[in-house]
Amino acid sequence: MTLKRDRSRAEFSRACRTIPGGVNSPARAFGAVGGSPLFIERAQGQFLYDLDGNRLLDFVGSWGPHILGHRHPAVISAVRSALDDGTSYGAPTALETELAELIVESVPSIEKVRMVNSGTEATMSALRVARGFTNRSEVIKFAGCYHGHVDSLLVKAGSGALTHGVPSSPGVPAGATADTIILEYNDIEGLDRTFRERGGQIAAVILEPVVGNMGVVLPAPGFLQACRDACTRHGALLIFDEVMTGFRVAYGGAQALFGIRPDLTTLGKIIGGGMPVGAYGGRSDVMDVVSPVGPVYQAGTLSGNPLAMACGLATLRTLRGANPYDVLAKETERLVDGLTAAARAAGLPHQAARCGSMFTLFFTDRPVRNLSSAMTCDTGRFARYFQEMLDRHIYLPCSQFEANFVSMAHSPSDIDRTVAAAAEAFAAIAAA
Ligand SMILES: *Cc1c(COP(=O)(O)O)cnc(C)c1O
Repeated sequence: MTLKRDRSRAEFSRACRTIPGGVNSPARAFGAVGGSPLFIERAQGQFLYDLDGNRLLDFVGSWGPHILGHRHPAVISAVRSALDDGTSYGAPTALETELAELIVESVPSIEKVRMVNSGTEATMSALRVARGFTNRSEVIKFAGCYHGHVDSLLVKAGSGALTHGVPSSPGVPAGATADTIILEYNDIEGLDRTFRERGGQIAAVILEPVVGNMGVVLPAPGFLQACRDACTRHGALLIFDEVMTGFRVAYGGAQALFGIRPDLTTLGKIIGGGMPVGAYGGRSDVMDVVSPVGPVYQAGTLSGNPLAMACGLATLRTLRGANPYDVLAKETERLVDGLTAAARAAGLPHQAARCGSMFTLFFTDRPVRNLSSAMTCDTGRFARYFQEMLDRHIYLPCSQFEANFVSMAHSPSDIDRTVAAAAEAFAAIAAA
């Protein structure tokens, strides 16, 4: 029952002639799993439909935004009605204030918020604000946390030891990462030592409060509080990058779930409902350093775009009304329990991590607490699992080091079907 892929293959060859690697974001290339990406024609609810006419059960959700499922009627009609009015004005609209008000109401630590066009822009701007506010330059980042392709945050995963960042991409000058300090996630001792040694120079600690970008990794008990305490003690700002976790792990994000109040928060993904949106916000006194009130410059021709605002507003309002978080968490737990039981039955070593409706199944026998333990995964085995699932029309993220997402559109029988497919996939892998 292998998947028809002729049209996707042909379209990929064509794309490769004019687009580097045939994709506009490397996460979409099937580099880690082999073969070429499927080209999508349309989507509905929990399904993607590709050029070859395959219907795929989608656990990627555009890498996070589609918590409502694809083409939720409230979202489609809000975007349609905004489109009837125009696409962009380069002048303020009430839609921007409405989304800002909804975010301020929803995310505990945000008092003021600025809209941008991507998560990358949000983290880049939040760092600039933190440095401008504190008049300091150094930033602590954790290995395995991804904050978009911001120069100063594109730093090679360091070891557990304190290392000054080395750029992990050509094109990023050494100077851009010289002020980035890399620590292992969940390493409270390393954090405290770093602050003891150079606390007076540290502008901010930035982290994913629940990591999604090395696969799902939960904060160890006390880790988020330790970050909060160290920042408070040394006058640094705590930045939660909630681009993935905002409105995902709870309506108010990870900060609501864990009861920790960062100084700045970055958002993206769900707040745009599938349109290109990012945002950064936080304490009023900090946000008031942003131009035109303060001296820290940050701007955007299309920021607060009316189509994007309408899409995000309809998404957040639907979430607030439906409050799907308990149901999503229970169904996702049932899915993860089913997957782990199937992996155990097939004798495949594995670890599972879940927070709300995001999860990762790691092919390793070591607990995954940080990047070095994540790196013990058998990525060849993951590639095999991915292809076996795809042959069964189940569309998973094409890398071991990504989060899977369950949406409101996934039904209990979709969950059952996925577990059954995984049982077959694991049996095939174990037999090989
Ligand atoms: C996706 C993501 C980003 C980057 O957002 P883009 O919109 O892709 O620029 C930043 N931080 C986290 C935690 C993310 O998951």
